[in-house]
Amino acid sequence: MIYLDNCSTTMPLDEVCSVMDQSMRHEWGNPSSLHHLGISAEKQIILCKKELAEILSCEPAEICFTSCGTESINMALKGFWDANPRAGKHMITSMGEHKATLDTCRYLEKKGIEVDYLPLNDSGEIDFGLLAEKIRPQTSLISLLHINNETGSMLDVPGLVQLRNRCFPNVRIHLDCVQSFGKNVSRIGRLGVDFASISAHKIHGPKGIGIFYHNKSAKVSPLIHGGGQQKNLRSGTESLALIKGMTVAAREACRSLDLNFWYVTALKEQLLCELSCMQVDYRCNSPKGSSPYILNISFPGVKAQTLLHTLDSFGIYVSTISACSSKKQIQSHVLLAMGLDPALIGSSIRISFNRFNTPDEIIETAKRIKESVDMLKYRK
Ligand code: PLP
Repeated sequence: MIYLDNCSTTMPLDEVCSVMDQSMRHEWGNPSSLHHLGISAEKQIILCKKELAEILSCEPAEICFTSCGTESINMALKGFWDANPRAGKHMITSMGEHKATLDTCRYLEKKGIEVDYLPLNDSGEIDFGLLAEKIRPQTSLISLLHINNETGSMLDVPGLVQLRNRCFPNVRIHLDCVQSFGKNVSRIGRLGVDFASISAHKIHGPKGIGIFYHNKSAKVSPLIHGGGQQKNLRSGTESLALIKGMTVAAREACRSLDLNFWYVTALKEQLLCELSCMQVDYRCNSPKGSSPYILNISFPGVKAQTLLHTLDSFGIYVSTISACSSKKQIQSHVLLAMGLDPALIGSSIRISFNRFNTPDEIIETAKRIKESVDMLKYRK
């Protein structure tokens, strides 16, 4: 198997599986219980939070465990207005966001929040000039992706934070770091944003857990009410096994972040080089300077889904658009927003790498793509 669909999810590390197995068998006490088993689970959660806070360069109190990136995003957007009912009812996002943001914004619109959706240029970027123009006295929140999950386009976060600090200091920023944490960045707390969303299963951790980062100066209300866990911010019994699994995944991902980044950069370049050398006709939809972990690429004249299934038959796993929308047979809203020709959108696949992919896998993938494209070109 050659797994190149790492934006959808990643294979859990062996260390993650064993720490979770051990925790589920021996540390299953409820962290809220007052007896020894409960207190010991609570202590371990505190230790994990401390380690995660060090990795994120923030305070433990700024970390809230959630069930996934989607929940963290919902918490940032819905929780913000619940906690700040007097805040101006206008926010800004972009047309290229993940559905978790776009659908939450549609929900907020029904509740009376006005939302501006910034267009993307052909590199998948937003125009800061236009962003500044859209900000009005009622604007309270900006929510943007750090790394676009379909193209790898990267937001200029220092530029955004500088603009906000200089001109609109009262506007809060939420950053969707689901594809960037553990790959492009670790110190979320140093970015200068107010809220950030993280998901463990994108960094070789378990599914079912994520982080909602909230700067201590920013107020948010809970989405989930109940037993008052996590200082009332997110009720529900914490899963020590999931928390431990995510902590190991974050530790391992961030340990050699730079080294991994350059290694994966070389893999992405190698794949494009191999395809060029074999004279495969392709168009790279990921812009210059995009995340090395993501390559969006079109093969003119080839139907993306057919290519995906052909590669699947060779044991090579890639994707068309994002995983949560790929079964719905719709065109990528991100590529559409970038103004890409619909024919090219229909022939685009996303190849997303991980730090364990090898140069040999890349050679094999390029060879199979060449074979498949030659076979499928202009086939109806
Ligand atoms: N944001 C981005 C950029 C993503 O890529 C994803 C998942 O693909 C999410 C949010 C949602 O994360 P989760 O699957 O943990 O809910």
